[in-house]
Amino acid sequence: MTRADLLIRDATVHDGSGAPGRVLDVAVTGDRIVAIGPRLDIAVAEVIDAAGLVLAPGFIDVHTHDDIAVLTRAGSTPKVSQGVTTVVTGNCGISAAPSPLLRRDVPVPPLDLLGDAATFAYPRFADYLAAVSAAGPAVNVVPLVGHTALRARAMDSLDRPATDEEIAAMRRDLVDALEAGAIGLSTGLAYPPAKATATAELIALVGDVAAAGALWTTHMRDERSGVVSAVAETIDIARRTGSRTLISHHKCCGEAAFGLSQTTLSMIAEARAELTLDLDVYPYTASSTVLIETFARDSRQVTVTWSDPHPEMNGRDLGDVSAEWGLSQTETIERLKPGGAIYHQMDDGDLDRILAFPPSLVGSDGLPRDRRPHPRLWGTFPRVLGHFSRDRGLIPLETAIAKMTGQTARVLGLTDRGLVQEGYYADLVLFDPGTVIDTASYDDPTARATGIHTVWVNGKPSWSDGAPADAGIGKLLTR
Ligand SMILES: [Zn+2]
Repeated sequence: MTRADLLIRDATVHDGSGAPGRVLDVAVTGDRIVAIGPRLDIAVAEVIDAAGLVLAPGFIDVHTHDDIAVLTRAGSTPKVSQGVTTVVTGNCGISAAPSPLLRRDVPVPPLDLLGDAATFAYPRFADYLAAVSAAGPAVNVVPLVGHTALRARAMDSLDRPATDEEIAAMRRDLVDALEAGAIGLSTGLAYPPAKATATAELIALVGDVAAAGALWTTHMRDERSGVVSAVAETIDIARRTGSRTLISHHKCCGEAAFGLSQTTLSMIAEARAELTLDLDVYPYTASSTVLIETFARDSRQVTVTWSDPHPEMNGRDLGDVSAEWGLSQTETIERLKPGGAIYHQMDDGDLDRILAFPPSLVGSDGLPRDRRPHPRLWGTFPRVLGHFSRDRGLIPLETAIAKMTGQTARVLGLTDRGLVQEGYYADLVLFDPGTVIDTASYDDPTARATGIHTVWVNGKPSWSDGAPADAGIGKLLTR
């Protein structure tokens, strides 16, 4: 090796494997890492002096609702500004394609997390993938297909188990999406349109996922006082189908569920001895999704993030809105719908325990459509690095980085990303370990993180000097 396009000199390289950092030079040519070593002697077009900075693989946001956000470059600014170079779309049963509007004029909640009816412009999964490729996104995109979208296509009423014919229709759509390149199927069993899903329906669909060697991700049926039985159901389905399985945004909501992570994590640890079972988590004690009465009921506090009929209430406290209108909480929510909210409803002890659990991955679950989003959209990754790792010492830096890079790539089956390694794609983030921190808060939810120096996607900058850069073009990463 005598020539390269870019040399990042004297960085503390955290390679994403969980190994401690080492001071090294890293050379990039085109879209690949071509050399790594102490004091590389290479002629290069550009040298970056990275002494004192950490160079890590670009972060992989394993849990997003960025299906529509990735269709514009600006849509990924919340992600590249944090060091994210790859996003997994289509989570929680919610995907932009295939269109869930076969039988309806408007998307049923929570599909409307992604947007209104005009959003769902892709009849087949392949049509959506073509749109992503044509868009030239700022990040790489790893697409899942959502079960609730399939259900809405196959069924007139969603509050009951599917018939055999409806299951067959869903399976045809699922196989079509998997063949087009979806990396797996997501379910959102806690939400009304999927709550009535019977075991037979899950076994059939997740069985197809397993047969294709794909991944099943699940927003489980219950994340409140019934979370233990929801984990048991997930393990049962994983065992009966043999599917690789990822539990989404694991959490214990509502006071009755506080502390149950001790039980759920030991169940997951035990099941991992025989199953390929993983989980992800976001680093906050408030959740966020569409407005649902049962989610609001056991929350300490609820903030409205968007409301179509009452946009003047965006950012307002739900209790204050109720008082102003002289309505009950239930009536207030009905009047605000369709809309979304932030629900403060978790305990710090559970969050710490789940984040520190070795298998857990970091995902944002950010909601880019929201007018007043949960701060996780802009803050998740620097918050884990700066707050949980550096300031609180909950996990070492190399562990935090592995949970957002190498470990994640392994779960997703990405073979040439997620590590700083010769021959791998040059998805990289350079950051200051002393200052990296989230600044997005519930009061100021779109404030940009600090300490992120440069972010490269496929060898070219997608973020530099505190602003988006247009050179880094993300790829569609299909199965
Ligand atoms: Zn979810």
